[in-house]
This record gives sequence, C-alpha cells and structure tokens, in this order.
Amino acid sequence: MNKSVVIIGGGIGGIATALRLATRGYKVTLLEKNETLGGRLNQIKKDGFTFDTGPSFFSMSYEFDELANDCKLTPFRLLPLDPLYTVHLRGHQKPIYLHKNRRLLAEQFSEKDFEKKFDRYLKKCSSLYNDTVDKVVKKNFDSIIHYLATLATVNPVHLPILYRSFWDQITRYFDSDEARQILSLVAFFLGRTPFDTSAVYTLLSYVEFEHDGYYNVDGGMYSVVQKLQQEMEQRGIIVVRNTEIVDVESNNKTITSVIDRNRQRWNADCFVVNADAAVFRGTVLKKKNYSEEKLLKKEWTMGYFTLYVGIDRKLPMLDHHNYFLGSNYAHYVPAVSKNLALSEKPYYYLNILSKYNTTCAPDGCESLFFVCPVPNLIYKPSWEDREEFANSIINDLSERLGIPLEQHIVSKTIYTPLEWQERFNLFKGSGLGLAHSLTQIGAFRPSNIDEDFKNVCYVGASTVPGAGIPMAIISSKLVTERVVAYFKRL
Ligand SMILES: Cc1cc2nc3c(=O)[nH]c(=O)nc-3n(C[C@H](O)[C@H](O)[C@H](O)COP(=O)(O)OP(=O)(O)OC[C@H]3O[C@@H](n4cnc5c(N)ncnc54)[C@H](O)[C@@H]3O)c2cc1C
Repeated sequence: MNKSVVIIGGGIGGIATALRLATRGYKVTLLEKNETLGGRLNQIKKDGFTFDTGPSFFSMSYEFDELANDCKLTPFRLLPLDPLYTVHLRGHQKPIYLHKNRRLLAEQFSEKDFEKKFDRYLKKCSSLYNDTVDKVVKKNFDSIIHYLATLATVNPVHLPILYRSFWDQITRYFDSDEARQILSLVAFFLGRTPFDTSAVYTLLSYVEFEHDGYYNVDGGMYSVVQKLQQEMEQRGIIVVRNTEIVDVESNNKTITSVIDRNRQRWNADCFVVNADAAVFRGTVLKKKNYSEEKLLKKEWTMGYFTLYVGIDRKLPMLDHHNYFLGSNYAHYVPAVSKNLALSEKPYYYLNILSKYNTTCAPDGCESLFFVCPVPNLIYKPSWEDREEFANSIINDLSERLGIPLEQHIVSKTIYTPLEWQERFNLFKGSGLGLAHSLTQIGAFRPSNIDEDFKNVCYVGASTVPGAGIPMAIISSKLVTERVVAYFKRL
C-alpha cells in the first residue's frame, strides 16, 4: 500500500508540498484550520469587491516554473511588472516609477551619477546572490557544523557585509535620502526595516531589478491557490477544512496520529507541518525549547495592519502597486517596529487589484488594499484604536490625492495583528513569522525535520529558508527531499 502523509496547514507551503508528494506516489491528506486554503495568501470577497489579503506580488518566478515542472502542472500565467512599483514621497511633485530599465530609472533620481552608482551597487548585490543562493538558501543542512562549513566556502570577499545593516550598505553607495530610502524599501519585504535587516539581503535588489523582477497573476494572487486546488483534486489529494490540529499521539520517537479540536484522530506514516514551525513545536508538541517564554526571546517580524476598502469611484492617477512614504523617514522608520505613534502620518503600501482585474470591483469602482507595517502584539497588544488608525491611512491618502475618500467608501474590512494571529496562528500577529536575523537563518532557524520525532517535518515561512511566496515554494522542495529520505530509510 502507498505510504501516507498528513499535511497540517493549507498555506502555499502546504499546498506545494501536497502536490510534490502526491506526484511521487504518496497518499496525501491536507488538514486546514480555516474554511479556505491559501493561508496568508488568501482572498476576501465582500460587497461585490475582491481583495487579495496578503501577498500581492512576488519575485523568483522560476521557482513557480520548477514546481510546475516537478508536478507536471499546466504552467502558471504570471505577468511581469513594469514599473515594479511606484513610490510617492511626501512633498515630491511626481512619483518615482521603479523601472528595471536603468536609463528610465536613473532619470527620475536627482542623485548625481545615479546610474553609475546603481550599477556598482547591483554588481555587488549580484555577486552576493550568485555566491550564496544555490549554496546556502536552497539546501537542507543536517547540522550547524554542516551549515557553518558550507558558509566557510562562500567567497570571503562578502564577510564584511555580515557586520552591516541593509541601511549601512545602501549609504555606502548612495548619498541622497531619496535614493537611500527608495532602494532600501525591499528590506520591508522581509518583515523588518532596513535598519534591522542584515546587508546580506541587499541581494534582493539584484533579484528585483536585474535577475527576475516582480510578477502578478491574472485575476489576482488568489488565482494561484484556486489553480493549485484544482490540481490537488485531480490528483486525489484529500483536503479537509475547518480542522485545527491541537494535539498528537506518539509511540516512542514516532507520531502515530494528530488530533483536531473535535478530538478526531488523523493517522499517517509521516506528518508535514505547514503551521508556523516554531509555534507548532511549542503549542502542539509542547516542547520546552519553544515555550511561550522561549518564543518571546526570539526575534519576530513586524505586524501588519491591513485595510480592504471598496470605493465607488476610480483612481486613474494611481498605479497597481504604490508605496507612500512621509517626510520624516529617519525618525519614523527606525521606530515603527516597536512604537507606533498615532499622531504620525503612516507609511503604507496600496494595492489596487481592480486596476488590471476589472472583475474585482463593480463598474466604476476600485478595490483598495492597504498594508501598513506596525509593531507586532509583543510591542502593541491592544488594537482598540483600529478605526482611528484606519482613518489616519484613509485621510493621508485623501490629502495626497485631494479627494475626500471617506465619502466614497462602500466596503471596509480591517485586519490588525490580532486578526492575523487568530486566523493563521501567527505568533503575536507577526506577519512574516520569525525574523531573518543571522542567528535565525539556515541551520539556526527551526529545522524542517523534527529533533524528537523522526516522522515529522516542517514547511513554510518559519522554517528554512524563510518568508515570502518563493521561499515557501523552495521550502516545499526541501521538505519533500526530507520525506522521501525518511521513507527510504524505513
Ligand atoms: C500582509 C502580508 C503581505 C505579504 N506580501 C507578500 C508579497 O507581496 N509577496 C510575497 O512573496 N510574500 C508576501 N507575504 C508573505 C507570504 O504571505 C508568506 O510568507 C507565505 O504566504 C507563507 O506561507 P506558508 O505556507 O509558510 O504559511 P501560511 O500562509 O501561514 O499557511 C499556514 C497554514 O496553516 C494553517 N494552520 C496553522 N495552524 C494550524 C493547525 N494547528 N492546524 C491546521 N492548520 C493550521 C493556517 O491557517 C494557514 O492556512 C505577505 C504576508 C503578509 C501577512
């Protein structure tokens, strides 16, 4: 009989793993806590509007191609973005369009010799990417020694970068606030600020501007999940929703079944956990090293305040992906992960899904999705001021556009870090899970193979390699190697 695998969690990491394992002939059952699959990559349909709830674009499209090839899926229809995104700086007349084309990009910056400096910066980012990604990011490590030995083979020219922040690195190449602020925005994609993100991640600048850029999906990001759901059905993968795993039964060093909230048991030969790898170890497996006290000592990414607004008018002056920055960056950004002053004007990202996906809003209307990085619940546990904060975002945009947007709102939904925590079991509402500090990546991140139970593996943002859609897809490849190796050893 085919060996069976139960996957706990139907985020993109869990779904991709289910497909890879089913392709290899295993009998797969996927259990998801919520009514819908996708995890953070989800969708809200309300009042005639459609919103993506979390991810709105992504890089490293070749990881999707690799998944499609591996599982013989019909290829994804990904839409390359140009501009990558648009940045609105308070007090600046015109927005800056982040084009991949060097000339088009350079002519918008007032910084002297921008193009030359940008070339020099990207050359460094590219060598960092090429010297590390295949060697370190896309590999399973069996021990810290194995990991450190691999790191020791990386070109030592990159060593000084380990001691710098993203911001330090950017300031070595660019002199103007404008260039520094805009080119370090990508650090936010890792859930922290350029001031507390390692310079190692400047390799992302190479990914966005040169290597692959960013992509959207026709119909919105959630169409990826819908397509993969169909593929799962066709392959006989059993999907069970509204099923949260809260306990396990074990025999010696093997888990024999996982138990849901209604005390139903789910048996399998092997289990892959797509729930947060640190949280599950603590709350369900009750490991002392992952107790609440120990989890609080780890570094977590920021929370997100997300706002989904339907308006009864069009906003032709805005693009699909827009960033709005204020004029007090040096004061606002270093503080925002711990201390949110409601008196300050917020910095935020605005996605207008209806811009190129007309079915996502009624005729003449627009669906707006705001993402505002805020402290997670460790630093701001209460969100009684949620309406006030939502209004500060709406008012800021109204002021910038000269349009009283509050008069046009016909649909509004707010997710504070409390909702993110509750819906997806994210520790303290941390939007991207464990932070990517140097002591929490590679073999220092919670491993994708359990330290006590030999038939339990992990996939997703808080295990290796880290957060983001492409990383979850790479994670599914790494965990598949683990599961196949486990069954071979039996
Ligand atoms: C606001 C926001 C914006 C983002 N934007 C981008 C972006 O533009 N591009 C990008 O690449 N990435 C983005 N990300 C990051 C990206 O969404 C995540 O890194 C990725 O979706 C994580 O996938 P995952 O499979 O690891 O986890 P999840 O999506 O969290 O999936 C885990 C699943 O497990 C379920 N679960 C948890 N506990 C249990 C349990 N005990 N029993 C059963 N089920 C359980 C959860 O309900 C969830 O469905 C964004 C994230 C947020 C929050």
